[in-house]
Formats: sequence, structure tokens, C-alpha cells
Amino acid sequence: MGYLGGFLVSLRQIGRKQRVTTQYPEEKAPKALRVHGRHVLNRYEDGMEKCIGCELCAGVCPARCIYVRGAENDPENPVSPGERFGFIYEINYLRCIHCDLCVEACPTEAITESKMFEFSFTSRADAIYTKSELVVDDAGMPKHLPWEDWRPGEDLNTSAWMRATAPSGAAEFEGIIGWSGELGYGIRAPEAGQELKDAITATHGHDDHGHDDHGHDDHGHDHGDHDHDDHGHGGH
Ligand code: SF4
Ligand code: SF4
Repeated sequence: MGYLGGFLVSLRQIGRKQRVTTQYPEEKAPKALRVHGRHVLNRYEDGMEKCIGCELCAGVCPARCIYVRGAENDPENPVSPGERFGFIYEINYLRCIHCDLCVEACPTEAITESKMFEFSFTSRADAIYTKSELVVDDAGMPKHLPWEDWRPGEDLNTSAWMRATAPSGAAEFEGIIGWSGELGYGIRAPEAGQELKDAITATHGHDDHGHDDHGHDDHGHDHGDHDHDDHGHGGH
């Protein structure tokens, strides 16, 4: 009877309407507010790139997977405000652990993360994202690459983590805007504080991110000291 008793567990489920299984990947469960996914390089509202090639993100990265080279801006045709811009920017996703320390370190909010983490590769070269893939498009949205599984709304969630923690995570700054506008969004609203119950709610289907005015929710070092063997620069 003990053996047959195991089948009773299955039989009791027949006819039950309330299912908890999500039919992934056809259907994705809502993601928590501050999930760390694929990075984007943001632009200012006038289209200028925010990255100034300072390499702080590369310096702080514990996985040493960012490679940045800065270059002087052409005063007649600058890429970013100021003297320098990120001439080369690469992230090796074979190494990235999505800790977001790069996001925390960036002084201009240039590098942030979306919440899309469903992407994989069949070659090392494809795993290394370059500027052409990371910089947002002319509408301020992440580029959708053939091997990425974006679903509606996921490309709106590109900086909630940065806005939740800046500046320096001090409680007295909660709700106070300390960041610049973004192409396609303007100045985004602050992230609300996240209680444990909010996180649990989010994972069960309520996407209650901070909303902005647009109705979007949001959710060198040189080659010598950078182990770059598997970046495959030849392909970039
Ligand atoms: S998320 Fe962490 S591991 Fe990934 S690039 Fe940024 S600092 Fe490096
Ligand atoms: S993304 Fe930010 S930290 Fe990294 S090089 Fe550009 S401006 Fe500096």
C-alpha cells in the first residue's frame, strides 16, 4: 500500500484548477524588482553617450570581464559630453557574475542592467558584447540580439538597481533624484524602498516598479594587466 500511496499524490492533482507550474520558456514568471540581467550602455536625452571611458567599471569588476579604452572626443563631433568617451567597451559574458559592482562604480550612470537574463551563445566571440551591442538604440532601448529572449516590457527595466541604491545607499537619500535623464525616458522616478514582502509579491506576479512620467516601469587598464585571453579580440 505504501507503494500505491505514492500514486495517490498524483491522482489527487487531477482536475485541480490551481496550477503553480510556469510553462517556461513559452511563459516567463515575473521577475523580482532588482534582478540583474544583460547590461546596457545608456545615452543622455540629447543622444550623447554617457560613458566617458574612465574605466572605473573595469577596475571594480571582480570577474575582470570588462575591457574599456577611452579616447579624446573630437570637439567638432563629440560622442559624449566632456573630454573623453568610451572608444572600446566590451563585456565578456562567459565571466560576468552580474554582481552590478560596475553599475555602482560608474560616475555617470552609463552602465546599467536590464532584467533580461535569457541569452546564451554558441561561440566565445558571441559571448563578448561590444559597444555596438551594448549602447542603447536611438529610442533609448536595448538592442535585441538574435540569441536573446526579450519579452514585452523587459527592455524597459534597465536601471532600477542603480536608482534604488544611489547615492551610496544612504537611507536619507531614499526617494531623492541623484541621476541624469536618459534617452527615451527623461529623468526616471526614484525606486521605492523594497521590503521583503514587496520582493515576494513581485515574484508572484505583481510588477510594482517605480513609474516615471512616461509610464515606463523600471524596474585602461591595458592589455598588459588584463587577462584577456578568451575575449577573442580578433573577432571584434
Ligand atoms: S556585473 Fe559584476 S561581474 Fe558583471 S561586468 Fe559588472 S562588475 Fe563585472
Ligand atoms: S561605463 Fe561608467 S565607469 Fe565604465 S568607463 Fe564608462 S563612464 Fe567609466
